[in-house]
Amino acid sequence: MTIERLEGNLREHTSLHVGGGAKQLVRVSTDQELIDLVRDLDRRNVPLLILGGGSNVVCADSEFPGTVIIVSTQGIDWIGDHVVVAAGEDWDAFVSYALAQGCGELTPLSGIPGSMGATPVQNIGAYGVELAEFIEHVEVWDRTSGTRRTMTAPECEFEYRDSTFKKNPNRYVVLTVRLKLIKTLDVPIKYLQLANVMNQAVGTTANAIEVRDQVLQLRATKSMVLNSVDTESNSTGSFFINPIVGHSDVPQTCPSYPLPASDPRVETHMKVSAAWLIENAGITKGFHLGTEDSSIRVSRNHSLAITNTGQGTTEEVVKLASHIRQQVFDSYGIELIVEPVLINCELDQLKVN
Ligand SMILES: Cc1cc2nc3c(=O)[nH]c(=O)nc-3n(C[C@H](O)[C@H](O)[C@H](O)COP(=O)(O)OP(=O)(O)OC[C@H]3O[C@@H](n4cnc5c(N)ncnc54)[C@H](O)[C@@H]3O)c2cc1C
Repeated sequence: MTIERLEGNLREHTSLHVGGGAKQLVRVSTDQELIDLVRDLDRRNVPLLILGGGSNVVCADSEFPGTVIIVSTQGIDWIGDHVVVAAGEDWDAFVSYALAQGCGELTPLSGIPGSMGATPVQNIGAYGVELAEFIEHVEVWDRTSGTRRTMTAPECEFEYRDSTFKKNPNRYVVLTVRLKLIKTLDVPIKYLQLANVMNQAVGTTANAIEVRDQVLQLRATKSMVLNSVDTESNSTGSFFINPIVGHSDVPQTCPSYPLPASDPRVETHMKVSAAWLIENAGITKGFHLGTEDSSIRVSRNHSLAITNTGQGTTEEVVKLASHIRQQVFDSYGIELIVEPVLINCELDQLKVN
């Protein structure tokens, strides 16, 4: 039996370090036990929360009224250029391992915290690269049909930080992810900031070992790698995604980026910099509500992240995020979309005048 019962509360199992307890908190290490447990909980209508590394969730301060399962399944199987990775494997450890096998294409995604099982949920991305480019299929337990099934990439409906898994939060349990990785250490540089630190032009290629090194260094300067001695990294990464607006609605001088070619709106819409919108709406790095010693604030190193440098609460996170969203809306008429998954909590209603 590999179901391990855990003590403590969600504060200890999430990177923002907020959240109350749970009626039941367990760690599961095999697919079969995971499926059996989920099936049993669903049969009894017990609320369920699946977690990997807890780096993209904001859980309510109140107790979770059901079972929280932390997925810790392990396994990496190569079949030629294809690799099947268990949901509980650590994402960044896998990027490093794939690089050691001569597969360097994932290195722009180095340093993103969390588990393999969560990577398709929001189609993780960084420095111009998205996981969807590599996914062949995702094996899931489908809680609606009560079947184990394989979902092809089109069935996963990947979009910018979105997928069918994120849109249907209570339907799928990701068991494994199958990627196609070719043996190459030549990595295309697609993002200006990365190109600049590498003294190269966008569109050129660089050695994957160098790319990983530079990405990890760049991310560390923004507290975008988890680091127990850097309390600014107690976050969910970016709290808001870059909003997508029509070409004519891009605010003057706001950095904007084309959508991925797969997006049907690519001709008519642009992604605009949420960081620019926040800063230009008057929210500076380090901004906080309440008293000077408030633990919940905008990161001092990254205006898109909300950090918890002490014993802050979800209520404070929600208040600050609501304030930021309202300020941006009042300044630019653009509604910021929250990136992490909110569990039993929500932002204040946006006031539209
Ligand atoms: C410092 C920092 C930097 C970050 N930088 C980036 C970045 O550059 N790019 C980016 O895209 N993200 C980034 N993130 C967000 C986060 O790391 C990713 O979204 C990551 O994939 C979440 O993994 P996790 O295992 O921690 O997911 P969790 O937080 O545990 O879960 C996230 C969601 O996925 C669901 N989920 C988890 N596992 C499964 C499963 N097996 N089956 C079904 N559903 C599941 C959960 O229910 C929840 O809805 C960052 C976060 C932090 C803290």
